[in-house]
Amino acid sequence: DKPMVALTFDDGPFPGSTSSILDTLREHDAVATFFVIGNRVHDNADLLKRMIDEGSEIGNHSLSHKRLTTLSVEELEYQIEKTQIALKAVTGVEPVIMRPTYGSYNDELEQNIGMPMILWSLDTRDWETRDAESVIQHVLENVQDGDIILMHDIYMSTAEAVKVIVPELKSRGFQLVTVSELLAAR
Ligand code: ZN
Repeated sequence: DKPMVALTFDDGPFPGSTSSILDTLREHDAVATFFVIGNRVHDNADLLKRMIDEGSEIGNHSLSHKRLTTLSVEELEYQIEKTQIALKAVTGVEPVIMRPTYGSYNDELEQNIGMPMILWSLDTRDWETRDAESVIQHVLENVQDGDIILMHDIYMSTAEAVKVIVPELKSRGFQLVTVSELLAAR
């Protein structure tokens, strides 16, 4: 019955910021969803295993962050499949959700992608401000039950913001869940 929110982090993993975010989640018994870039998988296998071990979810965010609506079907399949295979090899788990790069999609992409496309309901603009205070304020002033919150785990400013956001959301009674958990509950 408690309100729910899904924190989502795109474009990583990135050493330092991603591990700090995982530390914060673990400390507060919370989970999140990471939309991962396929060509970052090999060098960050330990972080990805940690996500799965600690109950977080991994989604597909393409192999090299191309704008997917501009690709041929073959190129699109390459971007998605290579990422699925890399993540399965490292974590043992194949993603069941994806997030289109730049939030850019159309009917053709939706038909060809073969899994749910997950956008967001609350955009922190963390990539633009690179400022922890602004991210904290944006989330805490706007968050509502059922929100999917967009952040990027490639900035230390975002990792710093998460240290404040996670305990504050919990103290307000929010359950922090994965995207798949949120979708299943709704
Ligand atoms: Zn992205």
